[in-house]
Amino acid sequence: MKKIKVNTEGCIGCGACVGLDPEHFDFNEEGLSIVKNEENINPEKIQEVVEVCPVSVISYEETDEECDCDQDCHCCNDTNKECHCNEDEDNCKENEKAA
Ligand code: SF4
Repeated sequence: MKKIKVNTEGCIGCGACVGLDPEHFDFNEEGLSIVKNEENINPEKIQEVVEVCPVSVISYEETDEECDCDQDCHCCNDTNKECHCNEDEDNCKENEKAA
């Protein structure tokens, strides 16, 4: 699963990511960037954000980490399996079952 990450400690608060993609990035109380949402990702747009960061602290890469979003699967609401936050409905296991 690909995941957006911001190394908030390295952020200088320039606001470029939030300005370019306010749906996925926001400021914390200290005015530094955080990822606020990982749904409805457009990979090209996220790549643009990755490239605009002047201190290169944003990444969008495959990760083996368990999703920590603490949300139910958005497409089938099954809490007992891995999160599909970044997957589209074609990858939903419930849809596979129904097919
Ligand atoms: S573009 Fe980079 S430095 Fe600027 S606010 Fe976003 S994460 Fe911070």
